[in-house]
Amino acid sequence: MRLKDKICVVTAAGQGIGRASTLAYAQEGAQVWALDINEAALQSLKAEHENIHIHAINLLETEKFSQFFEKLDKIDVLFNCAGWVAAGDVLASSAQDMQKSWDLNVMTMFHAIQAVLPKMLAQGGGSIINMSSAASSVKGVPNRFAYSVSKAAVIGLTKSVAADYVTQGIRCNAICPGTVESPSLHERIAEQAKAQNKTIEEVFAAFVARQPMGRIGRDSEIAALAVYLASDESAFTTGTCQVIDGGWSN
Ligand code: NAD
Repeated sequence: MRLKDKICVVTAAGQGIGRASTLAYAQEGAQVWALDINEAALQSLKAEHENIHIHAINLLETEKFSQFFEKLDKIDVLFNCAGWVAAGDVLASSAQDMQKSWDLNVMTMFHAIQAVLPKMLAQGGGSIINMSSAASSVKGVPNRFAYSVSKAAVIGLTKSVAADYVTQGIRCNAICPGTVESPSLHERIAEQAKAQNKTIEEVFAAFVARQPMGRIGRDSEIAALAVYLASDESAFTTGTCQVIDGGWSN
């Protein structure tokens, strides 16, 4: 059990990478608080493991989000997984796209970190994991302007927190996946197919074709990295962006 008795919080735990990571944390012995706006998804997640505790919340309701952390006496791991993909290049991006990307992809992390850091410092340490993306300062990806700006900010946020608290037992790392199988990916593929008058199979094939390994990633592969960063095995790792993209950005 690599996370035995650790108290973990995962945002966007209802589906995709957040869900896979929540399950992996629970299976490694952690008590996991799963947060998501989708209550039905949380209920089905809770049914999968007794170590999973759920809290339905809109992370953009800042006050309620910060208040959630007050009820935790201890927190060992914060996995800020929530994020939203805005499509479009700079000319196609609206101010609303920019604002929502900033609010959900960056500010939720800021608020969560402000809420947990005093507890982590008081208990002598903790691991913060922030979901970035290969589409960020790692790699320029077409039609991902607002998204990439926000995910690059996540890397800056991560490195800054890591530098400020490195002597106090706090570790902070970012995960930068390439394209990963998830419900939202399939929604994006369907939208793109409609917009480009293509079949879903054609658009999916185009996603796969840009992958050097000839396949996209699995949520379980990202969850395995999230377990490592949460565990004491990664005690010497902080301030990093862990690129996990099947060689896409290489
Ligand atoms: P997803 O996008 O399919 O699911 C996101 C979850 O977030 C959903 O359960 C949704 O209900 C929840 N959510 C959305 N808005 C919320 C809000 N305001 N409050 C609370 N919950 C909210 O999951 P995914 O594709 O695995 O993506 C998870 C993270 O990984 C995101 O940050 C994403 O940017 C990042 N990422 C994903 C990929 C990919 O290809 N899937 C690649 C790189 C990075």
